[in-house]
Amino acid sequence: MSEQDVTGNNFLRGIIRKDIEEGRLSGSLVTRFPPEPNGFLHIGHAKSICLNFGLAEYFGGQCHLRFDDTNPAKEEQAYIDAIQEDIQWLGYQWAGPVRYASDYFDTLYEYAVALINAGKAYVCELSAEQAREYRGTLTEPGRNSPFRERSPEENLAEFEAMRNGEYEEGAKVLRAKIDMSAPNINLRDPIIYRIRKQTHHQTGDKWCIYPTYDFTHGQSDAIEGITHSICTLEFEDHRPLYEWFIENLPVPAEPKQYEFARLNINYTVTSKRKLKALVDENVVAGWDDPRMPTIAGMRRRGFTPAALRHFCEMVGVARSEGIVDMAMLEHAIRDDLDKNAPRAMCVMDPLKLVIHNYPQSQVEQLGAPGHPNRDDLGERQLPFTREVYIERDDFREEANKKFKRLVLGKKVRLRNAYVLLAEQVVKDEQGNIVEVHCSYDPDTLGADPSDGVKPKGVIHWVSASEGRRATVRIYDRLFNHASPDRGGEDFLEHVNPDSFSVVEGCWIEPGLANCAPESRFQFERTGYFVADRHEHSAEQPVFNRTIALRDSWGKAEA
Ligand code: ATP
Ligand code: MG
Repeated sequence: MSEQDVTGNNFLRGIIRKDIEEGRLSGSLVTRFPPEPNGFLHIGHAKSICLNFGLAEYFGGQCHLRFDDTNPAKEEQAYIDAIQEDIQWLGYQWAGPVRYASDYFDTLYEYAVALINAGKAYVCELSAEQAREYRGTLTEPGRNSPFRERSPEENLAEFEAMRNGEYEEGAKVLRAKIDMSAPNINLRDPIIYRIRKQTHHQTGDKWCIYPTYDFTHGQSDAIEGITHSICTLEFEDHRPLYEWFIENLPVPAEPKQYEFARLNINYTVTSKRKLKALVDENVVAGWDDPRMPTIAGMRRRGFTPAALRHFCEMVGVARSEGIVDMAMLEHAIRDDLDKNAPRAMCVMDPLKLVIHNYPQSQVEQLGAPGHPNRDDLGERQLPFTREVYIERDDFREEANKKFKRLVLGKKVRLRNAYVLLAEQVVKDEQGNIVEVHCSYDPDTLGADPSDGVKPKGVIHWVSASEGRRATVRIYDRLFNHASPDRGGEDFLEHVNPDSFSVVEGCWIEPGLANCAPESRFQFERTGYFVADRHEHSAEQPVFNRTIALRDSWGKAEA
């Protein structure tokens, strides 16, 4: 297989290979995944994780986990914990300890002092509004701040006063002194420190000034010896600034930044701000609601780490933005579950069959394969009894030949069990069918029925006396619009009202109740399901539908 086949379109491998061949990499490759702990990770982050950890794995290097925690107002320990769990669940382990940009606040402060001493940074007192005016526009250069020519001594004293909490938030900022007429606005004397009288989740009340993202990221990369700092395209315009800091500060290494296109998927949103809105507005039950495109949500939905990694590989790494079809993600999930999920039976809308020629209290254990072509998944035992449940819509009193299920006066095979003949319908006073009386043919166990009449249909069933009750939760796509957040309207208006329903009183084969939370199954003829990570128990089984057996969206949408 050529490398192209294995990696998809991954231009970063090419760059790194060249760096190695041409001797630009003195040690091994070091990458990092730098989440801001202000929400749960989503499918887009999964791609960044697979890319950063995947490259390190591929080239025998290492990948760091570094929380990009320069904005204490929006950050929380709960997010820090969830992010670590998500990365490990995807199957990756960061090298060394969990790192925090805040670990480097002392060093970053020293770097800022070094810039001031070199006459390359100054404390500015323009208000936010004035600063905007001075900044200029894309077509007009900016103007120098009246505070730009302060002496290093004065700047040092001012910066120290900022640090000591002597000024109010917003009163002063520290700016790098670069070029107010630079065509790239990021170089027009960007802010590098601001006053924030906030307690920080890692550093407590030690600081009341915090470095900006731009002043933190590259320097943190340098401190950690990151060789390739991979980020998404919106940071392309920040690269000259990233490089300016690396050149102008006494940093121990010279990392390089590379950009790739964000992963966008239709029928969903991948922005922490919007995902947070879904949680805050109670549109979903939490960050890990099985409909959420968060890693925790997809986990709870029953997606597998292997399928997500495979999907990230399939979509490749590009330099230009595109939108990936949700069907491709769903295909990756189905493909994995089809190959690996054991089979089971679950009746969701039960209709009772009474098999009148089957002995009253007999329980016969019928063996069935765990999976049609995976011997390693073993056998399961299905108790067969006089009364069984089938799906209500698998029975009709009359039907044409296209209906290959149970019809009054006709035969059907119960999956992994006998052939039945429907003989009589019992109705209640309203005319609803409450039972169907059948007879079974004891010689029809196995593939080759002796009566020579092979029923066309095979339906699933569960013993009425031995089966167990379960709750099944049906999930579907969260949005019914292909681009919920791209139109002018509020993206919340495109939430699919049918994305969630609960079916109580389902019947499952008894062995299923004892499965561990997060066990995944194909319920035959119905879909793929997972035992809920938090709410499933043997006493009260709860299964989430991961996905239907087939894609029903392709046709429904114009
Ligand atoms: P959001 O827009 O959802 O808030 P973010 O970029 O602000 O995302 P970070 O926590 O800063 O979130 O992201 C951590 C890393 O994940 C960054 O390197 C970022 O570039 C990358 N990343 C975020 N979203 C995507 C995406 N959709 N596709 C690929 N990589 C992404
Ligand atoms: Mg970000």
